[in-house]
Amino acid sequence: MYDYIIIGAGSAGCVLANRLSEDPSVKVLLLEAGGRDTAKEIHIPVAFSKLFKGPCDWTYFTEPEPQLGNRSLYWPRGKVLGGSSSINAMIYIRGHWADYDQWRDLGNPGWGYTDVLPYFKKSEKQQHGASEYHGASGPLHVNDLCSPNPLAEAFVAAGEETGFQRNADFNGATQEGFGLYQVTQSGGKRHSAAAAFLHPVMTRKNLTVRTDVHVFGIYFEGKRAAIVSFQQENGSVQERAEREIILCAGAIGSPQLLMLSGVGPAEYLRQLDIPLVCDLPGVGKNLQDHPASGVVYECSRPVSLASAEGLSHAVRYLMSKKGMLTSNVAEAGAFIRTSPQCHVPNLQFHFGVGYFVEHGFQKIKGHAFSIGPTLLHPYSRGEIRLRSSNPLDAPSIRANYFADSRDADVMLQGVKLARTLAATRAFDQYRGIELHPGPGAKDDNALRAHNAKFTETLYHPVGTCKMGQDAAAVVDSELRVHCVEGLRVVDASIMPTIIGGNTNAPTIMIAEKAADLIKNGSSSRPTESYAESRASR
Ligand SMILES: Cc1cc2nc3c(=O)[nH]c(=O)nc-3n(C[C@H](O)[C@H](O)[C@H](O)COP(=O)(O)OP(=O)(O)OC[C@H]3O[C@@H](n4cnc5c(N)ncnc54)[C@H](O)[C@@H]3O)c2cc1C
Repeated sequence: MYDYIIIGAGSAGCVLANRLSEDPSVKVLLLEAGGRDTAKEIHIPVAFSKLFKGPCDWTYFTEPEPQLGNRSLYWPRGKVLGGSSSINAMIYIRGHWADYDQWRDLGNPGWGYTDVLPYFKKSEKQQHGASEYHGASGPLHVNDLCSPNPLAEAFVAAGEETGFQRNADFNGATQEGFGLYQVTQSGGKRHSAAAAFLHPVMTRKNLTVRTDVHVFGIYFEGKRAAIVSFQQENGSVQERAEREIILCAGAIGSPQLLMLSGVGPAEYLRQLDIPLVCDLPGVGKNLQDHPASGVVYECSRPVSLASAEGLSHAVRYLMSKKGMLTSNVAEAGAFIRTSPQCHVPNLQFHFGVGYFVEHGFQKIKGHAFSIGPTLLHPYSRGEIRLRSSNPLDAPSIRANYFADSRDADVMLQGVKLARTLAATRAFDQYRGIELHPGPGAKDDNALRAHNAKFTETLYHPVGTCKMGQDAAAVVDSELRVHCVEGLRVVDASIMPTIIGGNTNAPTIMIAEKAADLIKNGSSSRPTESYAESRASR
């Protein structure tokens, strides 16, 4: 018998397992479909893309994307202790303060920037010490890169030469400008949510962690979520939660499990013969992601990650945990506004110190660098749906990239600006020929065609169990699922709007705040106002 059952040991699940089990009188069960995080490619930072399409990855694909030449895009998601934080690129970014004020203003009290800043600080162990914006005594190590590549510095200099400011701290007073990213690494190794929050407390007697258990669904007693059903080895097992079940299965897994359990759009669940517990039309809707394109150049000096697999780098890493193997590939970046009408940055750059095309699957001989414009605030919305009532079937993912043409327009500005940056004096000593889109792409049509062919996910799906009080909301501002009891969703899926930046630190913040809500006695019943507002419609 457990007090809390947490489904999914990803970025959010690891935080909750740690914080809820701080009280020795509380019994916590953490269930994870993937295995232990023992693969060496998890821990050696530069190797993360070698985990793609392997046992630590759910290896999802979108439906054919109409605006992207009907390509089905590959979406990696972590299936291992640490979840996606065990396979991600380790960039530590919180987003813009205005993102959180927007969440609050959408009807979510307690989620404004000044409300959430203490939770970012609580989780953080910042290399440069505590300050107004940073914490230094949390579990998650946030460090400068051990051995930044000279190409990354050239990118920042290119930004300055183009008229942008240098920014030494994207998570401080201002987000805008060019700079090197900080990373979630400790001693030259990845510091995933599992490394930071779970492994240090695995010996707690009141915390049980089960790996390789695929959760099939939740059973309700009346409207109360009571039992979790999962597959272990070849049998089906059930466990009861005395207080609450907490879904932390991520932006794809959480809506999938809600629908499999009978919580979702009624009409659609009926079509799949799934008994209805609660008609929540917003489950799986409101899918948002950051699409990224690429402008790639040959590098005329042998400094890029093309050398990373050489013996000397392996030896250096083994001896000192320094050198190229500590690279997170996207070492530098920028946040910019493409027009004076934008009040906050609408474009981010990820600068790759090597050839990073098609998630690293495409290879070339020789050296290269990659500039990745990334759309921060897409207007397009996608959707997650079940293909069937079989929990082992991957859900259907429609990202709908560029369904709103304003998104494609910003990305067009992005590739143009990437070319401007590459043409600066800062890159003179490195710039070889343009490999993608290539010198033949001379006008806007050619650049738009390049974006349609080249755009991929930047791995940030969110929003599919959004927080709010409107008809499409799935959880309230205390993350309780509307219209049932004893069930919360705590992960990237609750974001009502995607934040302007990478999503790991914000997800960890969400879990820190949720843990406090739960521990401070937030009732497991959702607020009445949503039910009332639905009844009155
Ligand atoms: C390749 C990649 C690169 C990225 N790079 C960055 C970056 O550099 N910086 C950044 O900030 N963000 C990055 N992100 C995004 C960031 O890692 C995610 O937004 C964040 O980890 C999401 O956390 P989560 O808790 O919502 O989900 P996850 O961390 O994905 O956790 C969900 C967990 O639930 C488990 N689960 C799902 N379904 C079930 C089930 N049925 N039964 C049992 N368990 C289940 C999963 O296996 C997983 O462990 C990246 C993501 C990827 C994939």
